[in-house]
Amino acid sequence: MQPQAIDEFFRRLAAERPEPRTELHYVNAYTLLVAVVLSAQATDVGVNKATKNLFTQVETPQAMLKLGEAGLKKHIKTVGLFNAKAKNIIALSKILIEKFSSEVPRTREELESLPGVGRKTANVMLNAMFNEKVIAVDTHVFRVANRTGLARGDTPEEVERKLMKVVPERWLLHAHHWLILHGRYTCVARIPRCPQCIVRDLCAYKDKTKAK
Ligand code: SF4
Repeated sequence: MQPQAIDEFFRRLAAERPEPRTELHYVNAYTLLVAVVLSAQATDVGVNKATKNLFTQVETPQAMLKLGEAGLKKHIKTVGLFNAKAKNIIALSKILIEKFSSEVPRTREELESLPGVGRKTANVMLNAMFNEKVIAVDTHVFRVANRTGLARGDTPEEVERKLMKVVPERWLLHAHHWLILHGRYTCVARIPRCPQCIVRDLCAYKDKTKAK
């Protein structure tokens, strides 16, 4: 996609959703971190259902340790991979208390040192919580970037690197959320809703869905 088309692509997504936000529920940086760890290979809707009660009882790493792994599992048992996620959340809560004065750290290196926190989760935290201009590439962003021709790549890292190069500076802060929401509601995995898509004239996808 040419630079002018990329700018227009984001201008339209921005006009459609001027203030895009994560759809995960949270009350502070710690609960967002827990929600993002839970969201790996799970839907935001599923995570929100599980955390609805949890976050009325637990807003801090101390409260999480008090609840304990078995107590946490009771809340999140409907979320995929909940056993491993519960273990990681308890372990990262301990580390936050011991090493980071119970605060969520603000650097990528520190975030990625926590159990269950990879590059994507660190990017979500840096962007959604700390307003850094980074793009977390999840399954939706990966699909939209490849289909549209915005940034093609075989791995999330490659797509992220290319997106960081081609997305104009003025759109960088919210690019992650615009691409996720576009992928979640319009450029959906199985049959993209091309006839309703506001960027279809800019998109390079060859197999666009036709209007019925
Ligand atoms: S035209 Fe279709 S494939 Fe292209 S971004 Fe829109 S929904 Fe996705």
